[in-house]
Amino acid sequence: MALQNYAGACHCGALRFTVDLDLDQTISCNCSICRKRGLILAFAKVDRFHLNAAQGATQEYLFNKRAIRHQFCRVCGVEAFSFGAMPDGTPMVAVNARCLDNVDPTALKPTLYDGASH
Ligand SMILES: [Zn+2]
Repeated sequence: MALQNYAGACHCGALRFTVDLDLDQTISCNCSICRKRGLILAFAKVDRFHLNAAQGATQEYLFNKRAIRHQFCRVCGVEAFSFGAMPDGTPMVAVNARCLDNVDPTALKPTLYDGASH
């Protein structure tokens, strides 16, 4: 599948975004945060991601090596996306595919990623 444009949001709608994603390329990770949040991640280059939110609507959460800047909604607490980088340094957005409009998360076939060992 090629890139397609999707819209998504946190639960309360304070954070809305549009993003170009290939949903054939998702991952499910077993690291300490992904397993608790139940994230199914799809990655986009930052210029393919457009956030529509009031200033201060997001709260950042950093842990471990602080390589990934987890963003969650100050109102409803949902983590709809986070910021990080590919191994070569290219900045990326990791979108929570469960937050996309009109996408059935159970239809996705995420690749398991052993983040707990990395
Ligand atoms: Zn919210």
